[in-house]
Amino acid sequence: MITKEVIDSIIEYTSAENVKQGELLSGYTTFKIGGPARCLVEIDTVKQLTDVSKYLKSERIPFYVLGNGSNTLFSDEGYEGVVIHLGRKISDIRVEGNLIFAEAGAMLVRVSKEAQKASLSGLEFAAGIPGTVGGGVVMNAGAYDGELKQVVKSVSAVSPEGEFVTLSNKEADFGYRSSLMRREEYVITEVVFELQRGNADEILDKMNDFNERRRAKQPLDLPSAGSTFKRPEGNFAGKLIMEAGLAGFAVGGAKVSEKHCGFVVNTGNASSKDVLDLIKEVQQRVFETSGVNLEPEIEIVQ
Ligand SMILES: Cc1cc2nc3c(=O)[nH]c(=O)nc-3n(C[C@H](O)[C@H](O)[C@H](O)COP(=O)(O)OP(=O)(O)OC[C@H]3O[C@@H](n4cnc5c(N)ncnc54)[C@H](O)[C@@H]3O)c2cc1C
Repeated sequence: MITKEVIDSIIEYTSAENVKQGELLSGYTTFKIGGPARCLVEIDTVKQLTDVSKYLKSERIPFYVLGNGSNTLFSDEGYEGVVIHLGRKISDIRVEGNLIFAEAGAMLVRVSKEAQKASLSGLEFAAGIPGTVGGGVVMNAGAYDGELKQVVKSVSAVSPEGEFVTLSNKEADFGYRSSLMRREEYVITEVVFELQRGNADEILDKMNDFNERRRAKQPLDLPSAGSTFKRPEGNFAGKLIMEAGLAGFAVGGAKVSEKHCGFVVNTGNASSKDVLDLIKEVQQRVFETSGVNLEPEIEIVQ
């Protein structure tokens, strides 16, 4: 339970201005959905992130680390624990040779731009992923010809035991949209990317090409959390959903995008329940028509 004592301790590790109670989470996710957080703490420094997460772990208080909220569906009832929000202040990016050191709150879009400016290749695919370094690495985000596991050299994090650790790429144990950090509640503080020397113009062309393809194929004008479902082995979720006749299928304010059936979009006033009911119906109908079980890619926080 979040008592006054807990709130006071979090304030001690951060400041009174950083701690909000009853803040609506809809303002913190790209889906624009979510009720009030019992407590939301804005994180400004790596030390605050380490201190607050260590404290919450030691007190066994439930918490959720939130980056840009571009892969998260919060409940309409909100969240009863502590939301640790990584704001813009914990987003330093430093280039050293072919390495990029990026704090967890840095946006992947910015990191890939810095890489391009330094003529470093390998992060072009991430130029249009609207997430943070922490959220991206936890998910092993990927697109087109790449995924983050190909370029992560090491990950600094607070372990589930509350220790500060640095994991190698191998120890991070990346899989398709998964990692050790996702499975075992590590809190990422910083990531080192190792890239290849390349040609800045060619890197820029590739980034522009990927972003052009996104604009042409994805419903970027409406709130969503990107691809709702994981890609099933040897197939595409969007294709199966379209073949099940579900393009434009809606529950309340949640709709299967006609532009890209793999996206569930919020047409204005979708509730979390609308999205969850829609997901269930899509899963059932796709299973009936194709025999494939679609698994959600988004983090559903109930
Ligand atoms: C329009 C659109 C397009 C998208 N395209 C793609 C795409 O091409 N490829 C792709 O893979 N994804 C895509 N996504 C999904 C999303 O952008 C990625 O998964 C992104 O990496 C999530 O980052 P985030 O900071 O928004 O994570 P959040 O939604 O804030 O969090 C996601 C998960 O990461 C955890 N997390 C966040 N920060 C940390 C941290 N510092 N330490 C530990 N855990 C943390 C959260 O607890 C949660 O489990 C898209 C989303 C949208 C809206």
